[in-house]
Amino acid sequence: MPRVFNFSAGPATLPEPVLRQAADEMLDWHGSGMSVMEMSHRGKEFMGIHAEAQALLRKLLAVPANYRILFMQGGAIAENAIVPMNLLRGKSGADYIDTGEWSKKSIQEALRYCKVNVAASAKDSGYTTIPRRDTWTLDANAAYVHICSNETIGGVEYGFTPDVGSVPLVADVSSNLLSRPFDVARYGLLYGGAQKNIGPAGLTIVIVRDDLLGGAASFTPSAFNYKEQAENDSMLNTPPTYAIYVAGLVFRWLEARGGLVAMEKHNRAKAALLYDYLDTTAFYSSPVAKDCRSLMNVPFRLRDTALDDAFLKGAQARGMVQLKGHRSVGGMRASIYNAMPIEGVQTLVAYMKEFEAKNG
Ligand SMILES: *Cc1c(COP(=O)(O)O)cnc(C)c1O
Repeated sequence: MPRVFNFSAGPATLPEPVLRQAADEMLDWHGSGMSVMEMSHRGKEFMGIHAEAQALLRKLLAVPANYRILFMQGGAIAENAIVPMNLLRGKSGADYIDTGEWSKKSIQEALRYCKVNVAASAKDSGYTTIPRRDTWTLDANAAYVHICSNETIGGVEYGFTPDVGSVPLVADVSSNLLSRPFDVARYGLLYGGAQKNIGPAGLTIVIVRDDLLGGAASFTPSAFNYKEQAENDSMLNTPPTYAIYVAGLVFRWLEARGGLVAMEKHNRAKAALLYDYLDTTAFYSSPVAKDCRSLMNVPFRLRDTALDDAFLKGAQARGMVQLKGHRSVGGMRASIYNAMPIEGVQTLVAYMKEFEAKNG
C-alpha cells in the first residue's frame, strides 16, 4: 500500500523522511544497540537527544533567552487547567477570547479555577471570524489573556498578534506552532500538543517567560508546576522520550527546509490553492471570513450535502483520507500541516474539480 495523503486534523501526517529515519534507527540508535524507546531518560544518549531537540526548537522559533522551553505531558486539554493553576498568581480572574470549540473548552476548564471574563466572542458570527482587537473588553486586573491562535475545528486563525499591554498573553498554539514564525516575545506563554504539526501524541510543548514561573497555586501537582519542571529540565517525571526524539527529527527536517520563513511560504501556497478554488465555485463553499482563514485547517462544504459520502468515498479511492469534517461542523475539513506536501493539495483540488464536473 503506498502512503496516502492524510488530511487528519491530529494525530496527523508526519514528514516521510522523518518516519524513514525513525524506522532506520528503530533497533539501534547511533550504535547504542537499542531503540530510543528503551533508553533511560537520564542516560547520556537520551539527554543528548533531549537537549538537541530543545536547542533546535529554540533556534527555529527564535525563542528569547528569558523564556523556558518545557516538554510536558497531558496535551492542551491538561494545559487548560495547568495554565490557571500556574498563572493566576493570587489574582481572581483571567480574560478569554472565545473563537470556537477549543477556546470554549479552555474557558470551561478555567472556570474550575477562576472567574473568566469572556472579553470577546465570535459566537454571533457562528465562529467564522476572529473578533477585531478594538472590540475586546479586557480587564486590567486579569492574570492573563488567553487566545487560541488557530481553531483546528472551525478553521479560523489569528492573522495578528493582539496587543494586550502588560498583561501576559497566553496562546493555545496546538495546531499552528511552527507553521510560520511567531514573535514569542509578545507572549507570556505558548502551549500546544505535538500531534498536530510537530510529532507524535504524548508530548506537550510549553514556552514560558521566566518571570511567570514560581507563582503556582499550592495544590498544583509537581509534574504540572512550570517552575518545578523548569528547574528539573522537564525531567521531574519521565518525559515522553520517543515523542521528543521524533519531534527532534521534525525540527531538524524543518531546519533543513529553510526554517519557519520557508515553511510559511510553503503553507501559504498550499492554502491558496485550496481557498482560491473554493472562491471560484458555488459547488463548494468555505464558511470562514476571508481574513480569518486558517493556513492549517480548511473546512469546506458541498452545496448538496447528500453528496458528502460519495465525495469522501471517491477521495479515499484516490488515496486521500480523513477529509470528513468535525462532527460539530459537518462538511469536510482538509488539514494541511507542514508535513502535507503541495502535491497532496494539488491532488485534492484536482479531485474536487473532477467531482464537481461529474456532479455539478
Ligand atoms: C487538538 C487540540 C486541543 C486538544 O489537544 P489534546 O492534546 O487532545 O489535549 C486543544 N486545542 C487545540 C487548538 C487543538 O487543536
